[in-house]
Amino acid sequence: MSSVADRHGRPLRNLRISVTDRCNLRCAYCMPEEHYAWLPRSDILSFEEIAALVDAFTDAGVDRVRLTGGEPLLRHDLPLLIRMLAARPALRDLALTSNGILLAEHAAALRAAGLHRLTVSLDTLRPERFQALTRRDGLAQVLAGIRAADAAGFRPLKIDTVAMRGVNDDELTDLIEFARPFGAEVRFIEYMDVGGATHWSADRVYARAAMLADLGRRYGAIEPLREESSAPADRYRLADGTVFGIISSTTQPFCRACDRARLTADGMWYLCLYARLGTDLRQLLRAGATRAELAAAIGRVWGARTDRGAEARLAARDRAPLMPAAELKKDPHLEMHTRGG
Ligand code: SAM
Repeated sequence: MSSVADRHGRPLRNLRISVTDRCNLRCAYCMPEEHYAWLPRSDILSFEEIAALVDAFTDAGVDRVRLTGGEPLLRHDLPLLIRMLAARPALRDLALTSNGILLAEHAAALRAAGLHRLTVSLDTLRPERFQALTRRDGLAQVLAGIRAADAAGFRPLKIDTVAMRGVNDDELTDLIEFARPFGAEVRFIEYMDVGGATHWSADRVYARAAMLADLGRRYGAIEPLREESSAPADRYRLADGTVFGIISSTTQPFCRACDRARLTADGMWYLCLYARLGTDLRQLLRAGATRAELAAAIGRVWGARTDRGAEARLAARDRAPLMPAAELKKDPHLEMHTRGG
């Protein structure tokens, strides 16, 4: 089915589904607080409910789904959901983003269930730095998870790194070199001032231009790849053919090409990572809306979309964290770990 376009002519194609708001890490740029308000368990969508919403979304144009969280591998029996979604011909792409902690035990089952692609988040290769950044001791587990994913046949694997000034800005080349033997592609993400990033500050942002200048000094000429794509990463090639990406949501946002939306584990649907308000699809679903009614509601909401959240943030003066922790506690839907990255 063809996709509905929003007010800027952007189609709805990508859906990121957070399957749980729980996480087994406490990354400084995402979950820096001591205590969190969690979604009530009775509100969490069952796999059947998620699949029903995916059917409605595919009727409205979505053909790519990424499962995320929180940490998606904390959701029990996740391969069951993957099997259900992989059986839907309307989905051309089914991917998952994980922090890798539990990946070694799950990689083969994810592959067998029909998952197409896998991204692992990894910000550092240094154990003490990993501990400081995530407040957990887990680097060895993540590295074992990456090896297991490679062995299970997830190729090319993607490795997402939030690159931050004064935290891991000296590790870009180490990460590129680490990924090379796996044929994995590293994507450096600029630190974003989203909900959850309550300790964000502009001087911690390692901007794309600076990353490219630093990498150029080490590797020589870096060739930008010219691609027609709505993917968030701009991709680059080193002289030896190694490809890496940069997601510059903070300094060079790409709202004009944004075709993605986000569904939380309890069925709230957000059009933008920066959006304050969403649409409660759980309520519609549990009130008995049919697939056609859900698809029509999704089409109506998307058709009225006008936001360009990251660009609006770029234009903001005295840019600071999006929201204080107290506001996030009042509505956990505003958190990055609830909305899914
Ligand atoms: N737990 C999974 C993981 O770690 O990949 C999935 C959820 S996590 C919220 C998804 C992605 O969002 C991760 O790659 C994470 O690094 C990124 N992320 C979270 N907060 C961010 C921020 N403030 N700026 C940039 N990226 C962020």
